[in-house]
Amino acid sequence: MKYLKDDVDVLVIGGGAAGTIAAIQSARLGQRIALLESGSQLGGVTTTGGVSFPGLFHAWGRQIVAGIGWELVTKAVALDSGQMPDFSVPPLRHWWHQIRINGPVYAALAEETCLQSGVELHYYEIPTEVSENKNGWRVKTVGKGISRLITTKQLIDCTGGADIVGAIGLLRLREEETQPGTLIFRLAGYDVESLDEGIVQANFIAAMEDGRLQHGDISNPQGRFINFLGSGGENAQHVFGADSSTSDRHTKTNIAGRQSLLRILRFVRSLPGCENACVMKAQAETAVRETYRIVGEEEISYQDYISGRIFDDAVSYSFYPIDLHDRDGVKPQPLAEGIVATVPLRALIPKGSTNLLVAGRSVSSDRLANSALRVQASSMAMGQAAGAAAALSASQETTPSQIQIAELRELLLQHQAIVPIPEVTEISEHRINAINQCN
Ligand SMILES: Cc1cc2nc3c(=O)[nH]c(=O)nc-3n(C[C@H](O)[C@H](O)[C@H](O)COP(=O)(O)OP(=O)(O)OC[C@H]3O[C@@H](n4cnc5c(N)ncnc54)[C@H](O)[C@@H]3O)c2cc1C
Repeated sequence: MKYLKDDVDVLVIGGGAAGTIAAIQSARLGQRIALLESGSQLGGVTTTGGVSFPGLFHAWGRQIVAGIGWELVTKAVALDSGQMPDFSVPPLRHWWHQIRINGPVYAALAEETCLQSGVELHYYEIPTEVSENKNGWRVKTVGKGISRLITTKQLIDCTGGADIVGAIGLLRLREEETQPGTLIFRLAGYDVESLDEGIVQANFIAAMEDGRLQHGDISNPQGRFINFLGSGGENAQHVFGADSSTSDRHTKTNIAGRQSLLRILRFVRSLPGCENACVMKAQAETAVRETYRIVGEEEISYQDYISGRIFDDAVSYSFYPIDLHDRDGVKPQPLAEGIVATVPLRALIPKGSTNLLVAGRSVSSDRLANSALRVQASSMAMGQAAGAAAALSASQETTPSQIQIAELRELLLQHQAIVPIPEVTEISEHRINAINQCN
C-alpha cells in the first residue's frame, strides 16, 4: 500500500469540543499540527450530535472558562444574531446559563479558525495503527481512497472514548451500563396551548402500555407528555445502551435513535390537534454521553469535584451539576454555593504513557465526577490545556509529565484561558476582569 507521508509536531485525533480547541491552541504556539476527524465537520457532539448549547462558562457570577472555546462560542452567537444569557446572577436552573449556538455556524467558524491557525484538517480519516518510536509516534491512517503515515512528536486523543489509548493497550474504564444517548430532534406543526392535557396524557399512558411508545422514547417516563410536546421533544429522549466506540455499536445506536423518533412522530400525529406534526430538525447521529474513561496519572473523584479541590497542577476549571442520566431520567445534583471544580494536568495524561495526552469527556475521573466534567465548556478548557501542554512538550523535546506547570499556566493565560491556581490568583483576576471588559 502506498502511504501519503506527513510529519508534524502534534497530532490531534478527534475534532469535537476538546480536539478542535487543542489543535488551534497548539498551532497558535507555532507547532505543525494535523487533526484527524472521522466525520465530515468539526464540533463532534456539539454540532453533529446537535447538542448546540455548550456550558457552563460561568459560576457564581464570574467567568471560569474563557480562551479559545469562549472565542468561538461568542463569534458563533454574534454571527447568528444569537443572545447570551445574563451571567451576572446564578441561575435557578443550570441550563439557563448554557449558550444557544447555531451548530453549522459553529462548525464552519471552528474550521475557519483551524485553517487560519495553520491546522491541517483530515476529515473522513481514522487511525489504523499507532506505534511509539524514539521521537514520538507513527500513526497509520485510512480515509476514503487514501492511506497516510503520520509521524508526530506528541499525540492528543480527543476521540471522546479514548480510542487511541485503548488501541495502544493502556487501561480504560467503562461501566457495565453506560448513560443513555439521545437523538436530538425538534417536532413542530402543532399548538401546545390548544391541546387538552388530560387527553394527551391518557393517550401517552395507553401508548406506553400497548408498545406504540417504548421506555426511553421520553427520557422522564413519569413525566407529563405535554411538556415533551412543549419543548418539541428536544433533548428529551433516551437511547439505552448508546455507544459510539465501534462502527457496529454506533450504527446500532443511530438506528435505535431514529426508530424511537419514528415511534414518537407516529404517536404525536395520532393525538387530536397534532395531525400535522412534523420533524423540524433531526441530527444525523445519536449523541452518546458515555463510553470509556482513561486511567490517568491522577483521577478526579466525586469528592474532589463537589468539594472544589484545587489540584497542585490544576490547568482548568469545570462547573456543572453532577448529571448522571439513567433509566429513570436525570436528577442533576447542583454544586454547593461557591464551589468550582478543577482539572489537573495529570488527569489528562494516561498512566505510564509518554508523549500522549487526552482531553474531553474521557478525562481520568470516577463516574460521578465524569458526569459533570464531560460537558462542553469543561472539555474546551481541557482541550486548550492539552494543546498548550503538547506544544510545550514538542518544543522542549520532552513529555507532558515533565513540563513546568508554571510555564504551561503562563502560556494558557497569554491565550486568554482562565487558570485556577492559588499562587496566580492575582493574574487570573486580572485576566477575568480584562475578559469581562471585552464582553
Ligand atoms: C444528549 C447529550 C446532551 C448533552 N447536553 C449537554 C449540555 O446541555 N451542555 C453541555 O455543555 N454538554 C452537554 N453534553 C455533553 C457534551 O456535549 C459532550 O460530553 C462533549 O461535547 C464531549 O466533547 P469531546 O470533544 O470530548 O467528544 P466529542 O464531541 O464526542 O468529539 C469526539 C470527536 O472525535 C471523533 N472521533 C471519534 N473517534 C475517532 C477516531 N477513531 N478517529 C477520528 N476521529 C474520531 C468524533 O467523530 C467526534 O467528532 C451532552 C451530551 C449528550 C450526548
